[in-house]
Amino acid sequence: MVEKRRPISVSEALERVLCKASLIGSEKVDLEESYGRILAEPIVASSDVPPFNRSPYDGYAIRSVDSAGASGDNRISFRVIDHIGAGEVSAEKLRANEAIRIMTGAQLPEGADAVVMFEQTVETEQGITIRKPFEALENVSLQGEDVQKGEVVIDCGSLINPGTIALLATFGYSQVAVAKQPVVGILSTGTELLGVDDELVPGKIRNSNGPMIVAQLKRMGFRCKMYGMSIDQLDESYEVVKKAADETDCLITTGGVSVGDFDFLPAIYERLGAEVLFNKVAMRPGSVTTVAVANGRYLFGLSGNPSACFTGFELFVRPALLKMMGAGKLYLPQTKAVLGEDFTKANPFTRFIRASYDGETVSPAGFNKSNAVSSIARGNALIVLPGGSRGFHRSDTVDVLLLGMEEGASKWRL
Ligand code: AMP
Ligand code: MG
Repeated sequence: MVEKRRPISVSEALERVLCKASLIGSEKVDLEESYGRILAEPIVASSDVPPFNRSPYDGYAIRSVDSAGASGDNRISFRVIDHIGAGEVSAEKLRANEAIRIMTGAQLPEGADAVVMFEQTVETEQGITIRKPFEALENVSLQGEDVQKGEVVIDCGSLINPGTIALLATFGYSQVAVAKQPVVGILSTGTELLGVDDELVPGKIRNSNGPMIVAQLKRMGFRCKMYGMSIDQLDESYEVVKKAADETDCLITTGGVSVGDFDFLPAIYERLGAEVLFNKVAMRPGSVTTVAVANGRYLFGLSGNPSACFTGFELFVRPALLKMMGAGKLYLPQTKAVLGEDFTKANPFTRFIRASYDGETVSPAGFNKSNAVSSIARGNALIVLPGGSRGFHRSDTVDVLLLGMEEGASKWRL
């Protein structure tokens, strides 16, 4: 008799997955190695930024009081007493009607409180003249205007982007605490599977899910352990899964989670004594997506159908791995867009359609069954159509999940 499975919603499934995530711990890495990692400590400003009042332009540092009353008919003269570039500090202190020629980034000399840009001056034998009054602190980049010492600038759990690297460097972090990365394993199951170098023979197909998931992990900055392919044979598959589950924090298998005669993952979970969080999700593709936990480790049983496998990874594996690292933004970024063409298939379950999004319009990226491979390659987004709807039409506004973005969203809004 075929086992009857009860589907749960995607949100419910996500919740069940995420509440099993345990933090994996942190490690110190060199600043140069930290791009793409998750911060395991907040970045605290060790100094003001900028650390001193400085000139934002090439020009002349003056005392603003000396410029009072300046106009086109009443140009005021300044004697230039020194000349400094960025990195230099003048030993001079400005007195009445004195100016110091100063370049962008140089510290304001003592007594100076304004900068006159070159374009606002006329040079004379002794110095310069100006034709307008300057206010105190005019054209001055103020100490601490960007960041103040002691401020928490970036929270723990943030993704380290190039700007974060700039901040870390600014504050002298030559090393930074980042979340350790979970050890992730990949095993493709299916007697029909061939390696990428194998010739096609009747009844067989090349394993595309394994390499695809490697790339999905790589996109997140992860490396993984490869467990190759296993045939649909219970004892043999069990041994591989057991070994892989022991050696990893998260094992991703593809195939074998359905109710077919050769789908052995359910039996393997049972033999392992794993807790199955769910084995049916009200979504297409990928309704057979199964997630289990054994000894505190995740076992993601993704469907063998490539589109379902791809979607299952993005929806469930990705946020789980991020949560294990204490990341603040677990979810794919979400937006709304106008549907570029009719999609009139009814949706008993929530439907995730590989799609191409151009910033305004979103359209299905071609052949749209769960076994499709081509539309994964052509898409950069997933259209999300709610379950229970009758189909959608061109110009309807729909939800979209964006793929391949550096930074995710902190909320699941669907
Ligand atoms: P399964 O989930 O094992 O029932 O497989 C569903 C479909 O996906 C079948 O047509 C399989 O041949 C195909 N499939 C399974 N594993 C892979 C894989 N690693 N790469 C490409 N297609 C696969
Ligand atoms: Mg199979």
